[in-house]
Amino acid sequence: MDYRKEIRAYLEAHKEELVSDICELMKIDSERGEAAEGRPFGEGPYEGLMAGARVLEKNGFVVNNCDNYCIDTVLNGKELQLDILCHLDVVPAGDGWRITEPFSPLVQDGKIFGRGSSDDKGPAMAALYAMKAVRDLGIPLEKDVRLILGSDEECGSSDIAYYFGKKAHAPMSISPDADFPLIFLEKGSLHTTFTASFERESALPRVTALRSGIKVNVVPAAAEAEIEGLTVEMLAPCAAAAEARTGVRMTLHELENGRVLVQAAGLGAHAAGPMDGNNALTALLSFLSGLELADTPSSSLLRKISALFPHGDFYGKALGVAREDEISGKLTLTLDLFSMDEEGLSGTFDCRSCVSANDENTKDVIFKRLEEAGLQHDNDPMNPPHYVPRDSVLVQTLLASYEKITGKKEEPLAIGGGTYVHHIENGVACGCADPAVDNHMHGPDEFVIIEQLLMSAEIYADAIIALCSHR
Ligand SMILES: [Zn+2]
Repeated sequence: MDYRKEIRAYLEAHKEELVSDICELMKIDSERGEAAEGRPFGEGPYEGLMAGARVLEKNGFVVNNCDNYCIDTVLNGKELQLDILCHLDVVPAGDGWRITEPFSPLVQDGKIFGRGSSDDKGPAMAALYAMKAVRDLGIPLEKDVRLILGSDEECGSSDIAYYFGKKAHAPMSISPDADFPLIFLEKGSLHTTFTASFERESALPRVTALRSGIKVNVVPAAAEAEIEGLTVEMLAPCAAAAEARTGVRMTLHELENGRVLVQAAGLGAHAAGPMDGNNALTALLSFLSGLELADTPSSSLLRKISALFPHGDFYGKALGVAREDEISGKLTLTLDLFSMDEEGLSGTFDCRSCVSANDENTKDVIFKRLEEAGLQHDNDPMNPPHYVPRDSVLVQTLLASYEKITGKKEEPLAIGGGTYVHHIENGVACGCADPAVDNHMHGPDEFVIIEQLLMSAEIYADAIIALCSHR
């Protein structure tokens, strides 16, 4: 039996209620704060969970509170088949809001504006209303669905780790906290810092300082270095050549102390897609390694580092770890943080590894190359990839529900980042965002399209019925 029409009609009839429940949740600033007794992530996330509990109860669901880390509810009390994971915490409001204040939700032109509307309070309510539609329409299920609402997704997901330390997973999990149709693969990662120290040097010319990067997972748009013993005129041809080679703009300024400041301006990007940016740091290293510097430990190190992380090498070729596989595509690697003064240097790279990458063929190889270059390094473990096969029942069912409701046939997505289900076996992130729409998640004027939420609720209801109908 196909319940599609009934579900759509039910959701249309309850649209106002859905919007008002989302707005209730959005009025709370559930950004992480100082931990206190009974408030593991501070007052905001706690209040967010309490508001969530009130909304679940108002809609006739029985709430279980897992020590104020997460709350959950189930549909029918039968054997558990599916977990749906959403979160009620938010990232900081930030500046630049124009349409409304971050915690004064505004409904306008078929959208809800405010912090948390699309990440992840709106999607959480789409999942709840999918469960409510199935329950209120009396659609028979053989198995159960559990909605889990967490309060620490944005700061490391320790809420979910705590929850599953106490309770068993369902055989399948979905998380409405990403894009449609679904993410079947999340790459693994390795973030490592390397360092070297050296004696203060006096030989000239040499590089006396270098600074670049804001976060390990962001390709740096800017980098700067100071050079002593060469003039702007002497450096200009080299800078022009580096600019032509890399596409990164190099500007030279003479400083009061006679040194020259070089500023490199490239293009930032997320570290999971370094080819979308133009790394100012690796371009600057390439420029510096081309200079006729005094033969000192610091200049030798800079040349070696530039050789290990050459500009435009997005795939770890120079480090000897380039690889790809059919499931997850290419491994990517980008040097994103660097600082050097007259006594030492430190750099940090971000590697997103494909399914076939492991300690032996990736981590050990990189560490050996760093050691050969005279660099010390942290001994970080690789974060393994997360993968649910395309032909699994879960992926195939979700794709079929997506196609049935939207009329669109789409391929599942592979991403370089990690989602809420990264450590959950047989879990995929699924909706509610349309990859073609920029919802300003984490930025000012975040919004969600109400019609997109209704459609998402339809998809979830359809998937719940398909996954929980059989013994
Ligand atoms: Zn989120």
